[in-house]
Amino acid sequence: MTRLILATRNAGKITELRTILADADLGYDLVGTDAYPDIPDVKETGVTFAENALLKAHAMAAATGLPAIADDSGLAVDVLHGAPGIFSARWSGTHGDDHANLDLLLAQLADIGPEHRAAHFACAAALALPDGTERVVFGTMPGTLRYAPVGRNGFGYDPILQPDGYEVTCAELSPAEKNAISHRGKAFRELVPVLRELLG
Ligand code: IMP
Repeated sequence: MTRLILATRNAGKITELRTILADADLGYDLVGTDAYPDIPDVKETGVTFAENALLKAHAMAAATGLPAIADDSGLAVDVLHGAPGIFSARWSGTHGDDHANLDLLLAQLADIGPEHRAAHFACAAALALPDGTERVVFGTMPGTLRYAPVGRNGFGYDPILQPDGYEVTCAELSPAEKNAISHRGKAFRELVPVLRELLG
């Protein structure tokens, strides 16, 4: 079975991609970065989701000699011209402080009316091969920002994004419901034909 690396330590992403690959019956053995503790994390120096996803995928492919996938994602708010964007995880200054990031964003948008609160989650998923071959695919989840967090599921900005066509926030959806419509679910599903093409 071909080993395929997913350049992440996030167990949720590994489970999600594993499910999608199993449904597609591609027969890859998907492993995360934790299986390679000696390989250092790569600095995300890109200025787009695609650049950062490619940086991570190429670094893992080069270090392991195996095909590698990486994703990069964030929240893009229309009235902020796409911010927080690549800064989503550290919008408040502290990397990964979901509560502080969300609170700061809500405060910044406090005076913005419902008609101007459009936003979307975006994800770039990259595949890199050890020979340097690369592909990037994208997925988005459009919605509207609430004025206060609602729901206990998910992570990050899930409690404040209400996906288009829904009356609940992402944090009120089950993981399966969210994966079916999410930016990451869409991008990972877009990868399936790319994997078939490049890896057979
Ligand atoms: P990463 O691509 O997993 O590093 O995600 C970057 C940041 O974007 C996260 O820390 C979250 O703040 C935000 N983000 C990305 N995807 C989601 C999502 O599905 N729900 C909520 N927040 C997300």
